[in-house]
Amino acid sequence: MNILPDFRTLRPATLAEAVTALASEGAQAIGGGTDLLPNLRRGLGQPEVLVDLTSIGNLSGISVAADGTLRIGAGATLEAVVEDAGIRAGWPAIAQAAELVAGPTHRSAATLGGNLCQDTRCVFYNQSEWWRSGNGYCLKYEGDKCHVVVKSDRCYATYHGDVAPALMVLNAEAEIVGPAGKRMLPLAGLFREDGSKHLALDKGEVLAAVVVPPAKGWSVAYVKVRIRDAIDFPLAGIAVALKRDGDAITGLRVAITGTNSAPLMVGTEALVGGGWTDATAEVLTQAVRKTSNVLKTTVAGVKYRRRVLLAVSRRLVDDLWNGK
Ligand SMILES: Cc1cc2nc3c(=O)[nH]c(=O)nc-3n(C[C@H](O)[C@H](O)[C@H](O)COP(=O)(O)OP(=O)(O)OC[C@H]3O[C@@H](n4cnc5c(N)ncnc54)[C@H](O)[C@@H]3O)c2cc1C
Ligand code: SF4
Repeated sequence: MNILPDFRTLRPATLAEAVTALASEGAQAIGGGTDLLPNLRRGLGQPEVLVDLTSIGNLSGISVAADGTLRIGAGATLEAVVEDAGIRAGWPAIAQAAELVAGPTHRSAATLGGNLCQDTRCVFYNQSEWWRSGNGYCLKYEGDKCHVVVKSDRCYATYHGDVAPALMVLNAEAEIVGPAGKRMLPLAGLFREDGSKHLALDKGEVLAAVVVPPAKGWSVAYVKVRIRDAIDFPLAGIAVALKRDGDAITGLRVAITGTNSAPLMVGTEALVGGGWTDATAEVLTQAVRKTSNVLKTTVAGVKYRRRVLLAVSRRLVDDLWNGK
């Protein structure tokens, strides 16, 4: 039956109160609820307390500091991110990626923190209780085997967030607040390649903000491939930040999503210093292929997703190189 489980909701007014509430057993954070609530309705999780972060006033601020650093509070809605003039001027790829998330009504409630911390997905997991029970459940929740990689001792559910790769190629950092205080880490460090434990957050910790350095001199973009353009997760998504000086690549950062249990940076060191040629495009293609691990976690076929990922990776760098 698709009904929500029983839970209490707390609406703390400060981050400190939220951290205290989240440190107790059975508590879970909620932002816009657009990822969490559909999952709970499917019986995926039974939190006793939902800690609603949307009443924490200063969690949703977006500001640019005197040194040009951008700070986006985790409670900012994706709509606010898309519409923010500072983001659009200095870091347009962030607004571009946020605008590609789901549909407009969705983005008016969904938060940046929820987008980054959203659960991983799998065709054997995002199903009703009835469906999953008929299949003997699975390793990610309530079961003891994986139907995607049989005999595996870990879950391969896929991370499909759109905004993380755009932030990662911009060298964004995550500001995390928890019972032990505040810590900063490169955004890529927030994620782990494990479908059932994909966030490196300790009990009681929340993502408070992302901090992004100035992007002057970099051409940055995010491309997403999905079945329906109106509302859909990425089957494959790729973000690229490129710095060009004449005929040479002087900086290249690439991140992918929709392929692994975490959004991942692709190793591109070998490409920096050279030009963008067919040979270097092939090196990039091989690097993306090596980093990605597309498995049968979506209804779209594995071969299709892999080929699309490789094709759009090359095309995106092509476009940025040619100033498109
Ligand atoms: C039909 C549909 C289409 C979608 N399409 C897309 C898409 O195209 N692209 C995409 O990226 N996503 C998509 N989503 C997933 C999701 O709705 C969005 O990612 C959204 O941005 C989640 O934000 P939220 O605030 O609603 O998260 P919530 O549902 O509130 O939370 C999601 C998770 O993050 C945790 N969390 C929330 N805030 C914090 C925080 N500050 N610190 C730590 N943990 C936190 C929650 O505990 C929960 O586990 C889609 C969802 C649906 C139902
Ligand atoms: S990858 Fe395996 S364990 Fe993970 S959700 Fe899918 S079937 Fe379950």
